[in-house]
Amino acid sequence: MEIAIPFIKLATEEKEGELAPIFDEIRSLFKSSQFILGDKVADFENRYAEVAGCRYGVGLNSGLDALLLGLRSLGVGPGDEVITAPNSFVASAAAISLIGAKPVFVDVAEDYNLNPELLEDAISDRTKAIMPVHLTGNPCRMKEINAIAARHGLKVIEDAAQAIGASIDGRPVGSWGDIGAFSLHPLKNLHVWGDGGIATTNSDAIAKELRLQRNHGLKNRDEVQFFSFNSRLDTIQAIVGANYLKLLPATTERRIKNARLYDGRLRRLSGFVTPPPSPLPGVKHVYHVYQTRVQRRTELVEHLLKRGIETKVHYPIPIHWQKASESLGYKVGDFPMTDRLAEEILSLPIRESLTENDISEVCDAIESFYA
Ligand SMILES: *Cc1c(COP(=O)(O)O)cnc(C)c1O
Repeated sequence: MEIAIPFIKLATEEKEGELAPIFDEIRSLFKSSQFILGDKVADFENRYAEVAGCRYGVGLNSGLDALLLGLRSLGVGPGDEVITAPNSFVASAAAISLIGAKPVFVDVAEDYNLNPELLEDAISDRTKAIMPVHLTGNPCRMKEINAIAARHGLKVIEDAAQAIGASIDGRPVGSWGDIGAFSLHPLKNLHVWGDGGIATTNSDAIAKELRLQRNHGLKNRDEVQFFSFNSRLDTIQAIVGANYLKLLPATTERRIKNARLYDGRLRRLSGFVTPPPSPLPGVKHVYHVYQTRVQRRTELVEHLLKRGIETKVHYPIPIHWQKASESLGYKVGDFPMTDRLAEEILSLPIRESLTENDISEVCDAIESFYA
């Protein structure tokens, strides 16, 4: 079956004119041989931090590392507990586990994000931090989460990997917690040509700590403060990222516009829920994913595929059901909302290059299925 409307298209998205400055800058980089860190990385970090409403950005080699080094920079370590959502991409829980801490899951609410009302029951003497995940580009209820964190003396690290450009009351995600962790993976809204990540913060001390964490713990050329990783953002990727940042406002608007087109057609369809069912006032959702809830998912996916329309499920197996989580000992009934969502969610194509016609075709196909 030929795919007329693929879920993802990468290299074909950009126009030649948008690519030329990137290749020019990479050519000059080659001549200067400033391959590691340098001005280009610093420039990208500053621009990105501004978009995330923060004073500092620290370029890293993945979103996972932004979470992992972020947690380490907040002093989270072996024996500590960190609260997060079980319906995320696996990296959220993995980052917690990889530093020797324990991921503690809390179920999600009607907006599919961490439910602040369930948070306090999950806090123990060992809890050190909360990691809300702005899943699909929809901001979490940060005011409530921050208030709870403040009450219990906990740190907040936002997993904002899917949410660059999203905001609450005009304040960008990534600036609500102590640290914002972002991924620059090719599938994210703002991406580079390989792996990359960035951590944002308003704290001078945390920014300094993150810079040590990503660079072998090196205080200067010869002195090592502590043993650490090499997780520097590639300079070539910083050039790519800085150029794509210029396009971000436009691509974000296209995604939001696409979402509104879908909403308009599909909102009243019975057996179908558009995302998120009850948006909060002041919230800007950037639609990394357009996640719907559907009935008879398997048949619908098949029906759409027959018409050349590709969809995805983010994610079919929640983290607490992965083999990797076995030792955490969760059982049926612990996270009813997450488990129910895993059965019902379906992501429609939402990329910025979709035309109104493409969206109309997807809607026609969905309507014909439920007719
Ligand atoms: C993509 C993603 C990550 C990890 O990013 P990488 O750059 O692939 O390491 C973490 N959390 C969430 C929610 C993500 O979507």
